[in-house]
Amino acid sequence: MVLAIALNPQAYASSAVDPFSLQRVEMQPVPAEYASFWIEDDSRVKGQLPAEEVWRPVEFATITAGPLTKPIWFRIPVQNVTQATLTNIAEVRWLNIDRVDYYIQRANGQEHHFLGINEQGELVPAKNSSFDFPLTLQPLEQVTLLFRVETRYFSFLPLFIWDQQAYEAHLVTVHNWYILGFGALMALLLYNFSLSVFVRDRAYLFYCCYVVSILIYEMAFNGMGNVFVWQDSIWMHKNGLGLGIYLSFLAGTLFFREFLNIGAYSVWLQRLVDLSIVYWLIALAALFTLDTFFQNSIYMSMIACVFALAGSCYLWYLGNPLAKYYLLAWVTLLFFTVLMLLMIIGVLPHHPVTEHGQMIGFVTEMLFLSFALAARINLERDQREKAQKQALKLQLDINRERENTIEAQQKVLELEKHNNQMLEQRVQERTLELQDALGNLSVANQELARLTVTDPLTGTANRRHFDEMLDVEIQRAARSSLPLSLILIDIDHFKQLNDQHGHIAGDECLKHFADLLTRMVNRKTDLVARYGGEEFALVLPETSQDAAFVVAEKVRLAVEDMRFSFKGTIIPITVSLGVVGLIPKQGMTVTDFVDAADNALYSAKHGGRNRSVMATAAS
Ligand code: GH3
Ligand code: MG
Ligand code: MG
Repeated sequence: MVLAIALNPQAYASSAVDPFSLQRVEMQPVPAEYASFWIEDDSRVKGQLPAEEVWRPVEFATITAGPLTKPIWFRIPVQNVTQATLTNIAEVRWLNIDRVDYYIQRANGQEHHFLGINEQGELVPAKNSSFDFPLTLQPLEQVTLLFRVETRYFSFLPLFIWDQQAYEAHLVTVHNWYILGFGALMALLLYNFSLSVFVRDRAYLFYCCYVVSILIYEMAFNGMGNVFVWQDSIWMHKNGLGLGIYLSFLAGTLFFREFLNIGAYSVWLQRLVDLSIVYWLIALAALFTLDTFFQNSIYMSMIACVFALAGSCYLWYLGNPLAKYYLLAWVTLLFFTVLMLLMIIGVLPHHPVTEHGQMIGFVTEMLFLSFALAARINLERDQREKAQKQALKLQLDINRERENTIEAQQKVLELEKHNNQMLEQRVQERTLELQDALGNLSVANQELARLTVTDPLTGTANRRHFDEMLDVEIQRAARSSLPLSLILIDIDHFKQLNDQHGHIAGDECLKHFADLLTRMVNRKTDLVARYGGEEFALVLPETSQDAAFVVAEKVRLAVEDMRFSFKGTIIPITVSLGVVGLIPKQGMTVTDFVDAADNALYSAKHGGRNRSVMATAAS
């Protein structure tokens, strides 16, 4: 479908701009100063070009008018300054145009070509990776080139005029460059994709998505997608670049977020990143559902680039060891992109490096990021090893601590055991001591008991014991109806002995006599007691008075034979004995018994001493 344009000779004639001089050279870029533009308005009569004063010069270094929603016209006067017919190609190296109408206005008429989507929505695709149009000029012929452009992206028209043969050679070179670039990206993609399968790390997956997005972007950007990949897809023809931009920023941001583990370093930075992810998702959704490209996403892209730079610097500053790799990759991409932009705006010359700057930038970026992923694995492995070492050390420390504790516990146990042993020993010692003491005490008690019943001088029972024992024996004899005898013995003229030989001799005599008595009493139940002074008593249980008299006589005779000597002097001793023996009646007392014996003794004294007298039967 050809759009009919009526020439406006007046405008042509009064064109203030000098024509661009076309030489016989391989290629000439057309500077912006030769171009003027006009933004189509609805009031225009269809098919009519506007008056001269409406055309405005292009203020940029390239033929650019910024982002626009309305169709824009560019006008460039061109003159063949040679004497030869020039068979040229006008190349518009910006494919992200929905449609472009190309007019050659000549003195004798006009030529019209059209590429893109027509009014019926049909696609007339470019044959090559750029929009290219024929431009054949007769010797010295001057023409005006008119481009009517409809685009949803930048109204950007980098224009190059080529010698046809040179253009064809150029296309081959360009294709080779792209094949090289895409090949490199594909290699990185496949390599990292296979790694992502093995490593199962999301960063690898995002990296692969990022590479795919960049491939889409690059193919849309430089036209290779139109020619070789999606060809007659109208949607991709219109939206390919937008899709590439959105996907690249989305995948790039996801990779940025995952690879640098932003959440672990800065929460607010991660929030910002998440916000931008939401933005790119919304933009993508709008592209798919409403077929709309956000004009502001051009600015958003720039903000995102600055954000990525600043963000990775900040993360580096926070100590993220991978941030520097990311920064390096980004700086490289931006550096080459800027090279290309500088070429586009005419600051840098056309050169393979500047022409394909962004592609080189992408390949280098992806290469660096691939290295960075490898570095990340190394780093994580190092960190893991470090953590393992620390865990091992910690385990060893814990073990050592446990051993120390056990050792200490053992020591405590041993100490406790030792203490217990000591304590036991002490207790045993103390028990023995106590037992000793108790033994001693009982000996002492026995001694004490003995002493309380013993006469100290003679060792025989004392008067108190005599009284008690006699009472017991009286009761026992009364109960058993057995005879009990008592002999009272008094030493004769003892006062004289004392007087003649002294009290010591008297005492010795008493002891001597007591020993004799003790020796003479055989039965265990018999008792020898000192009744008082020089008087002794013999208690003879189960002994009749007659039997007791026999004992008394035996004693008396033994004393006669005793031959007590003191200091070499034999002192003759005799004793008088009173004997009483009977079966005691109930209620009989010690006094009754002693009185009876005493009476008998009294009789013996009065009878002339040295004799035994039995109590009379009446008592
Ligand atoms: P008789 O033949 O009538 O019994 O005359 P006797 O001198 O033995 O009796 P007497 O009652 O007159 O004197 C008893 C003396 O015994 C008096 C006292 O000095 C002495 N005598 C009493 N107890 C002890 C003593 O423990 N030691 C000494 N050496 N003499 C004692
Ligand atoms: Mg006496
Ligand atoms: Mg006497």
